[in-house]
Amino acid sequence: MLNQAPLELDIDLRRWMRWRPPSLRMDAVDEARFVEACGPARVQHFVASGLLALLVYNLFLLVDARMIPDVYPQALTMRLFIFSPVALFLLLIGVRFNALLARLPRPLLEGTLMMTGVITALNMGWLLMHSHSPYAGMYTAGLVPITIYGNLVQRFRFRYALVFSLVVMATCLACVWARSDRVNPYDVFDVPLALLVAIIAVYTLAMNYRFELEERRRFVWQLRAQALHQELSASQARLDELSRHDPLTGVPNRRHVDAYLTQQWAHLREAHGDLALLLMDVDHFKAYNDRYGHPAGDQCLKHVAQVLQRSVPASQGCVARWGGEEFIVVLPGAQLHSAMKMAQGLCAAVRELGLRHEGSATCGSVTISLGVAVVRPALTSSVDSIDSLIAQADAALYRAKAGGRNRAEAALSPVSG
Ligand code: GH3
Ligand code: MG
Ligand code: MG
Repeated sequence: MLNQAPLELDIDLRRWMRWRPPSLRMDAVDEARFVEACGPARVQHFVASGLLALLVYNLFLLVDARMIPDVYPQALTMRLFIFSPVALFLLLIGVRFNALLARLPRPLLEGTLMMTGVITALNMGWLLMHSHSPYAGMYTAGLVPITIYGNLVQRFRFRYALVFSLVVMATCLACVWARSDRVNPYDVFDVPLALLVAIIAVYTLAMNYRFELEERRRFVWQLRAQALHQELSASQARLDELSRHDPLTGVPNRRHVDAYLTQQWAHLREAHGDLALLLMDVDHFKAYNDRYGHPAGDQCLKHVAQVLQRSVPASQGCVARWGGEEFIVVLPGAQLHSAMKMAQGLCAAVRELGLRHEGSATCGSVTISLGVAVVRPALTSSVDSIDSLIAQADAALYRAKAGGRNRAEAALSPVSG
């Protein structure tokens, strides 16, 4: 028991030593997409934060006047007449050419942005080194807002923020060193102020890293969600397609034709056109199954469906399996004459398939009977008119069966097949 304690400590220590911060790296493709997607928003952010930062930067003239009055003219020139016009020019370019800047090579864009922070820090360093004001040493704390500007306000990308923070720290140390031989009543603050700048740099760098990490993770999640959504939409479309087709024959099923009928009904009601419906049924199909077996019956239905589909071009209408050995054809815009012609054509096409049917009392091969009904939706008022159209076609089909099968009957006048 006693020997186990150091062992656990050792294992924990090793785990701690193996710890690495979560990586900002993405694979090359995702990285390129990330850069492209963030571009415009990033330029917009530079401009908005840049304007605010420029205002704060010039407000520091009030502090310059109080703490380093001996170099105030230089501070005024640098801030107001050199840095501000250049920064304003860059900001104007950012506003005017946002899209163009967003497409610039990333190192150029991020590098230029980082330089605004670096120049500000060096500019302050120069003033502090040249000032003989007793408060100049304490003004080192002015590097803190500059650090915050780069790491948190503008949020330079982490690697640039790291370089920038090192420049700020180097500037801070250079100022302390350059002033070490001067009379300074507040030199006791030199080290604490340098430490303060260092601590703020480390804190803000850690936050900068965290922000960038979260931005990148959000982006990857977004990509995954998009891909998932696309996959889902595609499988939904596949499922929808499957649910609208008859698995045995491959032609649309009743669900599809119901929707198609409703849609065509509404359209033709507006357009004052006719809607023709052909209901058909394989003759003596029970006998076919009994004689040749159910699988052969399935094959027969497939052949019939194929010939129907070949005979009705998609531009003219829709063929569907209505159920069992019954099929339906919807012909939008067809009048009774052409619908009957189509029905007779289908009747002949199935017969000419020549599928042997020795059990049929009608003919030696497989045949179908059809019932045809035509309506002008604009002239109907009842809400269940589609049902009554189907009922009319069904009644005509019944008459075709009763009349000897292998024929088409119209809801109004019988026509032989
Ligand atoms: P009619 O000429 O009056 O239409 O006679 P019929 O024998 O075709 O009509 P009936 O309604 O008596 O029989 C229809 C048969 O169709 C019975 C059923 O087993 C068969 N059937 C329905 N769906 C399928 C199917 O998907 N595959 C096969 N093989 N047979 C089917
Ligand atoms: Mg039937
Ligand atoms: Mg039948």
